[in-house]
Amino acid sequence: MPEPSTPVFYQASALFDAQSPAMQPHAGVLVVDGTVRAVGTAGRVCPAEAQVVDLRPGVIVPGFVDAHTHITIRPGEGDQHGQLAQPPPWQTVRGVANLRAMLTSGVTTARIMTEEHDIDLYYRAAVRSGEVAGPALRVAGRGFSPPGKHGGAVNGVQGVDDLRAAVAQHAAQAVDHIKIFTTGGVSSTNTSLEESNYSAEEIAAIVTAAAEHGLTVSAHAHGGAGVDLAVAHGIHSIEHGALLTAESIEAIVAADVWIVLTSSILFHPTGIEQGDAQDPRILAKVQQARASMEQAIQTIRAQGARIALGTDSMHGLFGYEMQWLTEHGYSADEALTAATRGGADLMGKPDIGRLRPGSQADFVHLGGNPFDDIRAVYDVRAVYRHGQQVVTPEGDVRPVDTPAQEE
Ligand SMILES: [Zn+2]
Repeated sequence: MPEPSTPVFYQASALFDAQSPAMQPHAGVLVVDGTVRAVGTAGRVCPAEAQVVDLRPGVIVPGFVDAHTHITIRPGEGDQHGQLAQPPPWQTVRGVANLRAMLTSGVTTARIMTEEHDIDLYYRAAVRSGEVAGPALRVAGRGFSPPGKHGGAVNGVQGVDDLRAAVAQHAAQAVDHIKIFTTGGVSSTNTSLEESNYSAEEIAAIVTAAAEHGLTVSAHAHGGAGVDLAVAHGIHSIEHGALLTAESIEAIVAADVWIVLTSSILFHPTGIEQGDAQDPRILAKVQQARASMEQAIQTIRAQGARIALGTDSMHGLFGYEMQWLTEHGYSADEALTAATRGGADLMGKPDIGRLRPGSQADFVHLGGNPFDDIRAVYDVRAVYRHGQQVVTPEGDVRPVDTPAQEE
């Protein structure tokens, strides 16, 4: 390992910085102390004293930002709420392999959208301190849902006073954002995808209380009143959005709300289809959501909605999120931008999700060029966080070894 102050230039055959839409041929990234110092060709940005690591014929892209996932769930095993309600030691142990799968697929930051038992808070600390290998985690703690509704695996919460108290309690635990469930979900049988779990007053109270603590609120919401009320009352992002209409997408764009697409859990055969679609009621929801999403994505792109991508616990399948977008009208650069800068901007983290001077040196070494064939995003040869190789070419994972840098 070089001394911390030795500049290292990673030479690629091409580099995508998520700042401009084009691949930069023959470019590389100059890293000093875990931070990007410069991006460009060696002749232009590589000083004589730098150590040169030649990744050619590989390509460099920014580390992927999974904008919606969970640490302990595996959708293909079915009954996601039942999984969340398992005893904490069991759920915690399962997180190790899930985080490893995220990291080896190139995910360097993951936004966690509900866990029970504070598992996400402890994992955030464990990754930061180098105790366990994984992406940097941005966590929500337990998401808010009324008792018995989708997402409320253990305890629900409702009513303006109780919701305000719950926000304060989450803020005291230093969560990074608040997650609420305003509609039912595809993988539950007793919920509707278009109801609203919360009243306008309740949603407004959550958003206001969160803002007092400097936090944004994101809503699991598929369609109908659950989307409309959330968008009208200050929600930061709509998560999933499988039943969005042209009118609701228009309202989302007008309110500058993000949409976080979660395609793999819905469309991939190892997602809800494998886990829960033996139940005809869930199969019907899957089919309805797929048919709707095939249409909605055209409007989402045409309207220029701000999007980020999430695997929703399909650990290791982040590449599918990008592939699905390119199969639905998006260009490779748009898909890669959503997968990197999109997630970072959604989280208010301009220091990640792109490669420019001052960025965290989080990047992925791909074996091929995703602009030539998007499936190159699956061909992860190595992953770097803070300039440290956290996934080796052999596929081994390593925790970060400079915890102080971890934010
Ligand atoms: Zn989720």
